[in-house]
Amino acid sequence: MGRIFEATELVIATHNAGKVREIKDLLKSYSAGVTFFSAGDLGLPEPEETGKTFIENAELKAQASARASGKVSLADDSGLSVYALNGDPGIYSARWAINDEGSRDFSLAMRRVEEALGEVEDRRAAFICVLSLAWPDGHVESFEGRVEGTLEFPPRGDKGFGYDPIFVPSGYEMSFAEMEPDAKHAISHRADAFEKITGACFEMGGN
Ligand code: IMP
Repeated sequence: MGRIFEATELVIATHNAGKVREIKDLLKSYSAGVTFFSAGDLGLPEPEETGKTFIENAELKAQASARASGKVSLADDSGLSVYALNGDPGIYSARWAINDEGSRDFSLAMRRVEEALGEVEDRRAAFICVLSLAWPDGHVESFEGRVEGTLEFPPRGDKGFGYDPIFVPSGYEMSFAEMEPDAKHAISHRADAFEKITGACFEMGGN
C-alpha cells in the first residue's frame, strides 16, 4: 500500500494539454472534490529529462512540480521498449521521431525501428508507462504499467498515435492503431499503471 492521496488539489505535471485531459479522465471516479491544475496552467518550469529510466524521469518531473507548486503532483513517462534493441527507443521514444527540421514524425521513428531491427527475428516489444505521485515533503510513489506485444511492418491503422501502427498486443491480430480507442485503453500500459496507482494511493475515494 502506498501513501494515500488525501489532498484537495492535484497538479498534473505536464505541459501537454492532451495528456492533462486523458489523466483527468482516468482519475474521474477517484477525484471527487479534487481541483486539478496542470504544470502549464501554473507556469511551472519544465525540468530536463535527464534520467536513464522511465522511473527516474517520471519521478524527477513529479518531484520538480511538487517542489515548485507546494502541491501533490502526478507525472508520467512512457515509451516503446524493443527487446532485440536492448530496450530502445525506450526513454528516447519521442526523440527518435525528430526529423531534420526539428519536428516530430512518427513514420520516420517507425522506419528507424524497422531499420535497427534489420533481419532480426525477435520482434517482441512492450509499451511501458510509469506514473509517479510526489508530495511537497519529497515523498514519491511510482508504478509501472506495461503491455507486451510484437512489432509488425509496414505500419497499419490510423486510430492511435506514436508507435501504435506497428504494435500488435499479445493475443490480438490488430495493431493498436487499428483498435477502437476504448479497446486499446482497456489493455494499455497506461491503463495498467493507472490501475496500480489508484489501487495503492487513491483507493479511499474509488467508487
Ligand atoms: P513522453 O510524452 O515523454 O512520455 O513520450 C512518450 C513517447 O512514447 C510518445 O511520444 C510516443 O512516441 C511513445 N508512446 C507512449 N505511449 C504510447 C502509446 O500508447 N502509443 C504509441 N506511442 C506511445
